[in-house]
Amino acid sequence: MSEAAELAVAPVLCVGHVCVDLMNVTATYPEEDSKVGTNTVPNRFLLDDFAKYGIRTDSVVEVEGFSCPASCVILSQATGSRTIIHANAGLPELTPADFSTVNLSEFKWVHFEGRNVENVSKMIAHIRQHNKSMPAGETITISVEVEKAKAELDPLIPLPDVLFVSKDYAKLKGYTNMTDTVKKLQEEVRPGCTVICPWGEVGASAGRNGELVSSPAFPPKAVVDTLGAGDTFNAATIFALSQGHSLTNSVTFGCRLAGARVGVVGWEAFGDLVCKSDFKLTQIGEVLGRGS
Ligand code: ADP
Repeated sequence: MSEAAELAVAPVLCVGHVCVDLMNVTATYPEEDSKVGTNTVPNRFLLDDFAKYGIRTDSVVEVEGFSCPASCVILSQATGSRTIIHANAGLPELTPADFSTVNLSEFKWVHFEGRNVENVSKMIAHIRQHNKSMPAGETITISVEVEKAKAELDPLIPLPDVLFVSKDYAKLKGYTNMTDTVKKLQEEVRPGCTVICPWGEVGASAGRNGELVSSPAFPPKAVVDTLGAGDTFNAATIFALSQGHSLTNSVTFGCRLAGARVGVVGWEAFGDLVCKSDFKLTQIGEVLGRGS
């Protein structure tokens, strides 16, 4: 089976807002009055970009009259600082009615961005209902990432099978490191839920049913672009878990790919690295077997 065919076996449905990041890499932080970037992008750009990477968009809801949210990112090479100016002209949130049009039987995993709490809770309930009608082994695993440091996201914590929490959210809850975060949040989640917390250059911890595992980070020779490190970590960890790998191996794989991500600028270079050279996604065991 080709790599593409193997990857197509269990597609993951991702639910959230799509946003364009316009990267402006500058030698130093821009002078006052200088011009950097733009904050509008045609929706077509995103759909074309997804197609380029083989990401299906047939369930995407385009809302007429609204352009997609966009972030203008200024990456100062002098200091490594990252400044994000975000623009979202009121794009409406996805509704349970939108979600009900998805053919869930095509998916084994649905991942939610932690936002839109009331509607996302209803969508999760819809999946739980669907799971009741499925034989064991055919049910959908539900993951949620709670990234933003907003207390209003708290009601999402007890809902998923796999919960990702960012260090920003962890700090909001008063936790100061990844292991404490995982230990404490395990008291708030549904039974058997896996809690995963990436923590920048420290690595990541994960726990399930009282078991706690951690992975170190895998820093590249030079850290040049940390944008999307967390998303890379989440995607790689979900990929490994969905392929049946252990929790330890899955978070280690997440850290390995996220470490590679921060060593290159942008996604094209990372895509080349993952698909063509160092990391064969279908050979997770081989990647994990390497020394650091
Ligand atoms: P984000 O930058 O999106 O907030 P995190 O800081 O939580 O995400 O990082 C996610 C993962 O990316 C970490 O678990 C780690 O594996 C990797 N990572 C982030 N920063 C570095 C770094 N400086 N060196 C190596 N790995 C890193």
